[in-house]
Amino acid sequence: MAQIKLQNVEDYYEIGEVLGSGHFGQVRAVLERASGVHWAGKFLKLRRSASSRLGLEKKSVETEVEILQSLQHANVMALRDVFESRAEVVLIVELISGGELFDFIAEKESLSEEEAIEFLKQILMGVGFMHTKNIAHFDLKPENIMLADKTIPHPHIKIIDFGLAHRFKQGEEYRSLSGTPQYISPEVINYEPLSEAADIWSIGVITYILLSGLSPFQGDNDEETLKNIVGMIYDFEENYFNQTSTMAKDFIEKLLVKDPIERMTADECLVHPWIKPLTRKQADNRSRSSINMKSFKKFNAKRKWKMSYNMVWACNRLFRLQLQCKSRSQEDPELRQCESDQEDTETKPASLIRRRLSSSS
Ligand code: ATP
Repeated sequence: MAQIKLQNVEDYYEIGEVLGSGHFGQVRAVLERASGVHWAGKFLKLRRSASSRLGLEKKSVETEVEILQSLQHANVMALRDVFESRAEVVLIVELISGGELFDFIAEKESLSEEEAIEFLKQILMGVGFMHTKNIAHFDLKPENIMLADKTIPHPHIKIIDFGLAHRFKQGEEYRSLSGTPQYISPEVINYEPLSEAADIWSIGVITYILLSGLSPFQGDNDEETLKNIVGMIYDFEENYFNQTSTMAKDFIEKLLVKDPIERMTADECLVHPWIKPLTRKQADNRSRSSINMKSFKKFNAKRKWKMSYNMVWACNRLFRLQLQCKSRSQEDPELRQCESDQEDTETKPASLIRRRLSSSS
């Protein structure tokens, strides 16, 4: 189990290129000096003061670390080491070099349901394992489902980003408004007590998209999307689902159930006949049905475009913020400290949900 080190991360690891960015920092390739092994380093900025809204509260980083420490599973990103300084925490995690599952699929000419199920099964196994430990991920979405190595014949799924994950304690009532609009369940939006079933809803949404290239509840804006989710407004539009098997639709219908208690669990999903066919006929059905590749490619291209748009927008905000800070600090030397702790009052939403709600839908 990883012990938190107070030394400088660079004494142990050489820091390399940026692999990705999140709301609270960057993920970079790192090289372990002693062994020459490649890892990834997730650099999380810590909040400087209680009144600041920039950076993460130490408590939430500790939760992410504690959860990752207890999740050792082939389909969950492994934690190797943790370093802490006054300003940041660095998680050294396994390097996941195969990119996002959706990008890998979008590069293909065609994909049968049977092939798609091989990936879904792994997602369900990883999520099922978390649930046996009373941990819910609460942010399952295509960006957080990666592949260990896409060059091998049957790539392994790795679930990442446990920043919103929660471990339920016996008898505890936990509510949260965090998540990403397209993928969050009705009980999150209604601020009701949550359970692991919220992850199963998200898997239902991911499966729906994977098969059709359509997002089931997507509205013209976040508000409309949330309304559609709470109102359970979705259907299987024939134009998009004409290559989909009846069993696949049945599977989705058993995940996109409003009452979390009525939703299938991860274990039940794994024995649904679409995932684990009982008869030859059921198995043949899956291999004859395929995902709507043309529509899926369109969905993925749009998703990637939105992600890079959000990134450029965030960089521009940061740049303007730094300029503001610089000019103000020239006038007032006391403000020289403000660069990394300045609040973005104009665009900074009041809470994590609002930040996430407007981030990737
Ligand atoms: P968010 O703002 O979505 O909560 P975050 O700050 O928690 O993000 P992650 O989602 O964990 O950060 O990582 C950001 C990006 O970095 C990912 O989308 C992915 O592209 C890349 N990434 C994360 N972990 C790894 C890894 N272990 N190996 C390679 N790339 C990774």
